[in-house]
Amino acid sequence: MTAEPTDTPPTDAALGEETASGSSDAHGGNEEALRAVLRDFWGYDSFRPLQKEAMLCGLAGRDSVVVLPTGGGKSLCYQAPAAVRHQRDGAVAVVVSPLIALMKDQVDALTAIGVPAAFVNSTLAPADKIEVSRKLRDRELACLYAAPETLVTDRMLDFLSELDVSFVAIDEAHCVSQWGHDFRPEYRQLGMLRERFQDAAVHGYTATAGQKVREDVAYQLNLNDPEYLVGSFDRPNLTFRARPASNTLGQIREVVKRHDGESGIIYCISRKKVDETAGALNGLGVRAVPYHAGMTKEERSANQDKFLADEADVVVATVAFGMGIDKPDVRFVVHSGMPKSIEHYQQEAGRAGRDGLGSECLLLHAAGDYRFWKSTLNELPPEPRANAEQSLNALYDYAQGALCRHKALVRYFGQDLETDDCGACDICLGEVETVDDPLLLGQKIVSCVYRLNQRFGGNHTAEVLTGSKSEAVLSKGHDDLSTYGLLSDHPKKAVRDWIEQLVGQGFLAKVGEYATLQITEAGQQLLKGEKKPVLLAPAKKVAAERPKRSSSAADDWEGVDEHLFERLREVRGEVAKEIAKPAYIVFNDASLKDMARRRPTDEDGLSMCVGVGPKKLEDFGERFLKEIGTFCTEHGLTTDVTPEGASAAATTGSMFGGTRAVSRNAIAAFPLFRDGMGVEDAARELRVTDSTAAGYLKQYILETKHDDPTTWVDPAAARKAREAFEACGLQRLKPAFEHLDGTVSYDDLKIVAACMASNLS
Ligand code: ADP
Ligand code: ZN
Repeated sequence: MTAEPTDTPPTDAALGEETASGSSDAHGGNEEALRAVLRDFWGYDSFRPLQKEAMLCGLAGRDSVVVLPTGGGKSLCYQAPAAVRHQRDGAVAVVVSPLIALMKDQVDALTAIGVPAAFVNSTLAPADKIEVSRKLRDRELACLYAAPETLVTDRMLDFLSELDVSFVAIDEAHCVSQWGHDFRPEYRQLGMLRERFQDAAVHGYTATAGQKVREDVAYQLNLNDPEYLVGSFDRPNLTFRARPASNTLGQIREVVKRHDGESGIIYCISRKKVDETAGALNGLGVRAVPYHAGMTKEERSANQDKFLADEADVVVATVAFGMGIDKPDVRFVVHSGMPKSIEHYQQEAGRAGRDGLGSECLLLHAAGDYRFWKSTLNELPPEPRANAEQSLNALYDYAQGALCRHKALVRYFGQDLETDDCGACDICLGEVETVDDPLLLGQKIVSCVYRLNQRFGGNHTAEVLTGSKSEAVLSKGHDDLSTYGLLSDHPKKAVRDWIEQLVGQGFLAKVGEYATLQITEAGQQLLKGEKKPVLLAPAKKVAAERPKRSSSAADDWEGVDEHLFERLREVRGEVAKEIAKPAYIVFNDASLKDMARRRPTDEDGLSMCVGVGPKKLEDFGERFLKEIGTFCTEHGLTTDVTPEGASAAATTGSMFGGTRAVSRNAIAAFPLFRDGMGVEDAARELRVTDSTAAGYLKQYILETKHDDPTTWVDPAAARKAREAFEACGLQRLKPAFEHLDGTVSYDDLKIVAACMASNLS
């Protein structure tokens, strides 16, 4: 069935059809149709920011450039309209994607929810190619994924021109621009698509923010008056921290421990560091695997598969790892050294929390990293070098700075955040030690800049402030200034850092070739005492660190029965094995949490859970319902719970809407535990399930480094539990539970494990 090339552009066709069917929404029924496919295939009940607009472009035939942060839900922006068009008229959307592994995952994920999709690339066997062609001719596919080099061959283009193509979607569109951080020559040829598919709109999607890149994407792709849809780059579900590296392994371990049994990525600068770190973590009983370019291809993909199948929790990797990893439930990303640019940092750290659930990113940095990257830039020609240097400096400033990390990141990409307290970074959470009187200190520094007639750089200014007797200071008579030696109690390095922090917060600006310091309007306000800076206390050598779990992470667990969640993860693992797909193709963490929160008893109830559409309901529903039923009966849990603010907690979409409700529940429970209250009493007091209370207690124990479980657990049981953990490892509760034939409860095990972990730290 070959489609005639239509004379009518898709816009009219789409609008016409809907108007005729009497639909009433402002977009001729398109919005309704999109909502319907979201519900019926994906099991989602709302759009994330800008998704609707992007999808409507897809249906209206308007070219577009869509910029959304990682995890913002870009894929859905083309998949949903593709599904709508396929339902309406059997048209197929062509999706260009640079990564073969990713293509396969996306096709698997679509197939799992009942949206017909296929891919073509160089790995496809001839027989499979023939089958894909047949499906295309028979209008059986909603999405066709293609590698750029496969797509632009004459044969392929001629074949596609015979079909009804709904639109062309170009994923990772920044790859077309030389200004982007990941330019791919094969993307350049995509510019011809606009011309070849006259009747279909072309859309570019990227997470790379800069305006220059954005416009270059439109230019290189020859887009026709595109709609630019640029989302907020903030990722409110990520908690950002930056620390000087002091005891790297210990610092990494802190994070890994907080996420026992959860997925995470640790980036290292060198292969050697990767191997050492992975080995050390294995020694601590963490299921970690290495990944770097020095390993064979087979070793690398085996480790990657383990990670995707949840058989390994942590990947320790060089930057070689990550492209092509779409694992949505990565709960932490640690950089054990500084990457080479702020773009790289944003991308790599951004691999955490794609599913919108709370996750953390820690950047450990040392001056040596900066020097290392700087030295690698020497070979570059002047202009790229200046760009690379600027971006490296920006990351350095980010790491050293005292500005809210969320603010600092979005600012770099030209956006602003309204809030003064993001609640999800080390600065706003008050974890970073600051000086006692930042106003006075800031005023001293800015006054000195003023006395120096705003004609000197940071180094000289610091010398004057610390009373240096250097030639440069004395020869200019700057030892006569009233601000000379004003900060002589402080090391020059500290003063230098404060100057940078004042620049970072906009009180001073660096101008010209010599980076001369100038006082900004905010700097004037600082002098008048109208505005106060945040200035960090100079780093102590090895600071004990124990940051709090982020508030948004605590929210995700609101009402979730952790044991049931663990059980459902196991079922998911079994199902994934059976169908030989990554675990998240079955259900992602957000779905499992919602199941463990609502504890449905029938299909209707299950379909209320986020991410449970009809296809998955049919394929996996019975299995999960059975498990939930058995578990709830055994543990006496209430079922069919309607969570308070259910949709807020369940649809991760709301996390992107900017509201950041702070759940203080765990913290509220701390005084009870301090008074020696047990789990059951605390549960009653707080009106939560025992298992939730046990979760709070675990946090309390880790927080306070309490190491004696007999405060809460019967001494004999505690002893048995300890022996079991010594035999089976501390990593998971289940082996110990089974080792003891269930004679010690999960809650007791959890408490003993937390105390043992505290003792280790
Ligand atoms: P990106 O490509 O922008 O990094 P993805 O398309 O991979 O993001 O989406 C990230 C996660 O968010 C996926 O697990 C996806 O299923 C989920 N998601 C996307 N849109 C929605 C929505 N409207 N409601 C709920 N979940 C969504
Ligand atoms: Zn902040």
